[in-house]
Amino acid sequence: MELPEPPPCTVVGKEEEELLKQAFFSWAEFSRFFDKWCQQRLVMFSVKNSTRVARSPWAGVPPLYRLIHVLKYSYVLLVCKDVHSPNQPAEWSCQPSCPAFITLKLSPLRDRLVVSECQLTHSHPACPRRFAYHFRPGHLLANACLPVRMTNRISKQFVAPDDVRRLLSYCKGPDHGVLDALHVLEGLFRTDPEAKVKLVFVEDQAMVETVFFLTSRTRALLRRFPRILLVDRLPALQGVLDLLAVLCVDGAGRARQAACCVARPGTPSLLRFVLVSLLQSAPDVKGRVRCLTAGPEVAAQLRAVRQLLPCARVQICRAQGLETLFSKAQELGGASREDPGLWPLLCRLAGASSYAAYSEALAELRAQGPDAFVKYFDHNWAPRHDMWVRFRAYEASRDLDACALVRGHRRRLLSHLSPSHSVAQCLRDLVAMQWADAAGEAASEG
Ligand SMILES: [Zn+2]
Repeated sequence: MELPEPPPCTVVGKEEEELLKQAFFSWAEFSRFFDKWCQQRLVMFSVKNSTRVARSPWAGVPPLYRLIHVLKYSYVLLVCKDVHSPNQPAEWSCQPSCPAFITLKLSPLRDRLVVSECQLTHSHPACPRRFAYHFRPGHLLANACLPVRMTNRISKQFVAPDDVRRLLSYCKGPDHGVLDALHVLEGLFRTDPEAKVKLVFVEDQAMVETVFFLTSRTRALLRRFPRILLVDRLPALQGVLDLLAVLCVDGAGRARQAACCVARPGTPSLLRFVLVSLLQSAPDVKGRVRCLTAGPEVAAQLRAVRQLLPCARVQICRAQGLETLFSKAQELGGASREDPGLWPLLCRLAGASSYAAYSEALAELRAQGPDAFVKYFDHNWAPRHDMWVRFRAYEASRDLDACALVRGHRRRLLSHLSPSHSVAQCLRDLVAMQWADAAGEAASEG
């Protein structure tokens, strides 16, 4: 069916003018903006016509390839939804509909979406009741993928194999990698129906924010070796993902992956979320964890971590602590790797095997260290020395080189991850790594 040409924009009002100035660097950005814009005006628009970026002849050219997913459309016509209430006569719908429309187009530089035309005068008054009933935030994003009422309902819960199948059956397109991620989870459940998986969606958007998972094999490992847990956190992996793994230490002193979590970068309180999910997956472990070693960021979530693991000492991985301290010293000025003083002094401080040795190194730091850094140290690190100085470490973990274990795990992890930019691909690699570990174990046992 040929669509009638939208009427020409004869009068450009103030509102139109404002909208024509807008530019958006992603479809998601436009969608979020437009939700708010509609909510302020109690109006509803729907996509009447659109052209996907993927259909453009230049879409396969590498630097622009990214835009296929980010900008999604090269052309979108939004028209007023003009939903009439049920008590209006049926012939009402045959009347010419509201002329309000908005056209969004790819900018000439093809790096953003701009409002190219709009007509915002409606043929009907705004109706708050109708709006409240019909308006769904995130519908522009969800339309392309999953209904947000579904993603909101399932978010932050453990999902069963049936949930994943149901989500897949509702999935309308490959947008935002949700479909890919769900396929990976479907595959995980096919091999391991007892796997524990928690999905978090961005609120009101069909976009995966965080995925936590553990297999039945790693849960058994965790139950067998719950005493010492290590946290390996890779922030901003490839610039687009945060990855957090919890490791347990087996009888032979090897670090074994117990649970894994992939998240959008900067997801707040990720460690807390992972620990909560871990304990929900294996509740009997809670009172049996004696020591948790994590990166320096654990200090910010200390209260929550202590509440979750009441019987555990919470420690900062020494090597990571040293790195943080040294880069802070560089940032505050007055420290470089070539500077013979500071680095070995910090190493002596962290590695002190007695209180006397620690005090001695501390006195030296206060006497010789750059003022700004000493102030920072006294405020942030000295009061927590029992979390990162060697002589205060949890006994069974004192001679355990947590840093080496984490580094070893990380090397293995990075060798399994493909250079990808999506949650789904990362998830696929992590699941594959699980199967490789399981196969390796079976081979060594058989
Ligand atoms: Zn209208």
